[in-house]
Amino acid sequence: MGSLADCTRIVGLGGFRVSRIEVKGDDPVGAVRVHLERRGARRYPCSGCGRRTGRVRDATVRTWRDLPWALHPVTLVYGQRRVRCRACGIRTERVEFADPKARLTRRLQHRVGLDCQSMPTSHAALRHAVSWGAARRAERRFLERWDAGRPRRRPRHLGADEIHRGQGQHFWTGLSDIVHGEVIGLAKDRTEDALTALLTTALDARQRTAVEAVCLDRHRPYLNAVTTVLPKAEVVFDTFHVLQHAAEALDEVRRHEFFRAGPVMREFGRGKRWWLLRRWRDVRGKKRQALRELFAANRRLFKAYLLREQLDRLWTYTTRPGVLRFVLGWIDALRWQRLPEMERLGDLIFRHLEGIAAYCDHPVRFGVVESLNTTIKAVLRRARGMKDEAMLVLKLKWATARPIRTARDLSRFLHLDPVESVH
Ligand SMILES: [Zn+2]
Repeated sequence: MGSLADCTRIVGLGGFRVSRIEVKGDDPVGAVRVHLERRGARRYPCSGCGRRTGRVRDATVRTWRDLPWALHPVTLVYGQRRVRCRACGIRTERVEFADPKARLTRRLQHRVGLDCQSMPTSHAALRHAVSWGAARRAERRFLERWDAGRPRRRPRHLGADEIHRGQGQHFWTGLSDIVHGEVIGLAKDRTEDALTALLTTALDARQRTAVEAVCLDRHRPYLNAVTTVLPKAEVVFDTFHVLQHAAEALDEVRRHEFFRAGPVMREFGRGKRWWLLRRWRDVRGKKRQALRELFAANRRLFKAYLLREQLDRLWTYTTRPGVLRFVLGWIDALRWQRLPEMERLGDLIFRHLEGIAAYCDHPVRFGVVESLNTTIKAVLRRARGMKDEAMLVLKLKWATARPIRTARDLSRFLHLDPVESVH
């Protein structure tokens, strides 16, 4: 073994030097105990205020699990002082490499926490030879430190959406920054109170004033919450939900025209639902031909299909009068068609015209809303049964703020700077 100075350099904990090393036997996986001492003057920082003092009351030998040396598990050993601080009274000494009361060093927590983002907690625990509970605590501290060290952004566009929790009629309300594509917070339920609480607690006043638009589905309680908490922000209705209603209306027309029109027509219309609900540009070859035959057999279905296709143009206008003209034209084209399902859709669009037209002034990124929803669902699925809501939000923030798409993202993910000095 090299000199203690070499060991101090390898251990690399600023402010501490290695005073002694114990290795158990000749075993290549034998435990290593590294005894530490504080460098320089015998003055110790108070855990309350951080001020250094030389007035030591007593010391207790404590141990921390640290990163391994090759195959040797490493334990750090240090006599942690209790000091008499002028400001705080009797306090324990602050140890910079670990959190108060933690059994793992901060850099080991970091490694465990990082692993927990790409494997189940039980695997990460096994890999680092810690208990499941210790791995979960390490993960939590790691995520909290990461989140606390981030700048607080002032999002211009927010998205609020309901997220299905899986079992029964349970929902979350998710709030996200759709400019940067990050989750901001999560609340139980999908009520007005849930979103109001999220908007007031997850965002500070400075952040709230920066919000120009909020992207919503048609959920009425959310609308109320936004108008109360963010009176200056405009509501933009999500394309996705409007088009979903359009698809439902089209499907209703299909059912009406074929399934309630006797066995011959029913047989003819069978099995074509999926092609019908897809966009014309996404349907190819034989299926296109089949759709053409279907339309030839029923003009009303064809008309409904065309009307649905035209709706895409709603989000291409850059002025509100343009949107209004288009919608009026669209509703006009419905006349004499006897398509009650599409007429109901027209009503719905007309009632939400303001929210649809708001897109002209606030081109929010609908694609981001959708991809956020996908990520949220994936994280919730992996974390199924997780009771700890705060932890769930942290995991969602991590998953959305640091999406791993490129090799560069991956290297950033694996080499995120360990935060040694944050307390
Ligand atoms: Zn103090």
